[in-house]
Amino acid sequence: MNLPISNSDPPIVLIVDDDRFMRSQLKELLEQEHYQVVEVTNGQQCLDLYLQLKPDLVLLDTALPVMDGFTCCAELNALSDIHAAPILMMTALDDVASIEQAFSVGATDYVTKPINGAVFFQRLRRLIYQFRLQQQQALLCQQLQSANQVLKHLVRFDDLTQIANRRWFNEYINQEWRRMRREQTPLSLILCDIDFFKGFNDTYGHQAGDRCLRQVAQVMQSVAKRPSDLVARYGGEEFAIVLPNTTIAGAEEVAARTRTAVKALQISHIKSSVHTSVTLSLGVASLIPDRALSPERLVTLADKALYQAKRRGRDRVVASEAMAVSLKKIC
Ligand code: GH3
Ligand code: MG
Ligand code: MG
Repeated sequence: MNLPISNSDPPIVLIVDDDRFMRSQLKELLEQEHYQVVEVTNGQQCLDLYLQLKPDLVLLDTALPVMDGFTCCAELNALSDIHAAPILMMTALDDVASIEQAFSVGATDYVTKPINGAVFFQRLRRLIYQFRLQQQQALLCQQLQSANQVLKHLVRFDDLTQIANRRWFNEYINQEWRRMRREQTPLSLILCDIDFFKGFNDTYGHQAGDRCLRQVAQVMQSVAKRPSDLVARYGGEEFAIVLPNTTIAGAEEVAARTRTAVKALQISHIKSSVHTSVTLSLGVASLIPDRALSPERLVTLADKALYQAKRRGRDRVVASEAMAVSLKKIC
């Protein structure tokens, strides 16, 4: 792995010391080693500059005017979810109490005054190296997370319409089937198909066809708006709406609103035998899931109802009789 430190990106060290002589000595040492140095004289100035500068290391004296080094160190640690530079505290050689206090307020390490160049640079290099490595890892982690999100989207959503694809539909209907079976409440499904879409493509071209599919998908999304409703592209010009916790009457209502909303788009369709603009045929089915049934049964019922809608003249909603039949059997 490449060292996360390069000459083109020299680490920034923020020196916090009120002693001018000490500051200039440290600055000279650090600049010889090609560090970028910024100096402030008290804890408050350090805090004021910290998030703007985002240093690679804070070199912090303990005894400072305005705000002492220990308070400053604690305050810097409180900002660690935004920027967590290592804090190297400078204590007097025999001041054990200060060393303990420094660690208790979150210092990363300490060096003793007077500064011993060799020890100082060892600590400095190690801390900055670890800090940059952590930053690099956090960045990689972030990139991985967003790549995963993109992948998850690609796997679940249809490229053309940006609504759920068939794969996500299958997963979702199975998941909701099991949930409705536990709750013993109806799961409804609407399958719909654009009428005479082949003729539409042949007349207006494939790109206009694609545009139409996107518009229809968008309208369907705006009609089925409960959080658990799922609108999916089922196939070429076929769409599905999964409606958990919805009775057949409720689903018929959603289907009727979908039909009206698509018609209201007024997308001209001179090849349609049923209307002057694009229309939908819709089949609705609903079941209270039980172990003797399966989601495939619900799809079959909705598909049969859709077929009936086509047969009876298109541009209409047909509801499956199956729910009524199964309810009659129960009574
Ligand atoms: P019906 O009223 O019986 O549904 O007739 P139809 O013409 O809509 O049905 P058919 O199944 O004969 O034709 C479906 C057409 O949908 C054929 C194909 O050109 C078109 N289609 C399918 N997927 C896409 C797509 O992604 N983009 C475009 N532009 N057209 C598509
Ligand atoms: Mg079709
Ligand atoms: Mg069609």
